[in-house]
Amino acid sequence: MSSLLVDNIGELVTNGAGEGPLGIRRDAAVLVEEGKVAWVGPSASAPSADRRVDADGAAVLPGFVDSHAHLVFAGDRAAEFAARMAGQPYTGGGIRTTVGATRAATDDELRATVRRLRGEALRQGTTTMEIKSGYGLTVADEARSLRIAAEASTETTFLGAHVVPAEYADRPDDYVELVCGPMLAAAAPHAKWVDVFCEQGAFDVDHTRAILAAGQAAGLGVRIHANQLGPGPGVQLGVELDAASVDHCTHLSDADVAALVGTAHSDGSGTRTVATLLPGAEFSTRSPYPDARRLLDAGVTVALATDCNPGSSYTSSMPFCVALAVREMRMTPAEAVRAATLGGARALRRDDIGVLTPGARADLIVLDAPSYLHLAYRPGVPLIRQVLLNGVPQ
Ligand SMILES: [Zn+2]
Repeated sequence: MSSLLVDNIGELVTNGAGEGPLGIRRDAAVLVEEGKVAWVGPSASAPSADRRVDADGAAVLPGFVDSHAHLVFAGDRAAEFAARMAGQPYTGGGIRTTVGATRAATDDELRATVRRLRGEALRQGTTTMEIKSGYGLTVADEARSLRIAAEASTETTFLGAHVVPAEYADRPDDYVELVCGPMLAAAAPHAKWVDVFCEQGAFDVDHTRAILAAGQAAGLGVRIHANQLGPGPGVQLGVELDAASVDHCTHLSDADVAALVGTAHSDGSGTRTVATLLPGAEFSTRSPYPDARRLLDAGVTVALATDCNPGSSYTSSMPFCVALAVREMRMTPAEAVRAATLGGARALRRDDIGVLTPGARADLIVLDAPSYLHLAYRPGVPLIRQVLLNGVPQ
């Protein structure tokens, strides 16, 4: 059994027992055996191991958990971005442009894009990345999108209900029937989750409910794009269906916030559903950010994710999202780092990632900095010195 010791850690974020909300330990070491954290303690009393990574006083964190990304697509929408920055509003309609390019692409072209973006994210510290379909929107194209996604992640999500494709524009009911029937049947073997873009101009509450219920019946967990472009019923529907996560949450009523209050409350009441905020989308569409303080102050579990996609948020960088969350959404650096690690794990209903405690997967990052604070304090700077994925240095 091969073991690896990461020692001389100046500041270790465990998200478990320790100082403050991040469970920080100073002058610490982490022993890794068989891909898992076997021991955490003071560096001075660390056991010996076959191999050693000297953190040299730097900060070590759990790898980022990016619980919301759209990586299976072809082409880009740089021109649409430029037009938007010149004043055109974002409507979500550009998704159809990517659908056309994706349908025309070969499997290898799609695979190359997934690998490129997954690699890009890994170099920026993302050790778990959810990947959605949603740019195929035919039975065959959704199934192949998920097959390709599953080569890069176990967290794969069927998003056949991303937008109603142009050929069904006049008969959305027929499209929903296709999604719930043959498309779901072809997608489910390669998917862990089902997701719907519940928004005006995409899918209404009845269609959303039908698709999510069909996905649940096929054994998939539920996630939902909700309340991004305006107020709507998506958040409360997600909570009602025990969605693992409701994503975006930019336009919330008091009732939406109340519905999202989590089990962290002392009486054990509340939902397990996580509110996932995607500030890269607001940044890239020049839109108002979600009110993260309102959610956190109410006791809602918050996750941060990239929403990496070619239209509304073409970033794969969790450190960038942490910096945005702190600067633009008034999260503290500790809240943002927790949301980008443990929050993402909860949004995927995983308890083996997002923490560095014995038994967890040894997914960790060594920063080129003495503290996690630098992720927000030094925006845009490549601070990820080393990544361990399942205990293996990358
Ligand atoms: Zn999305």
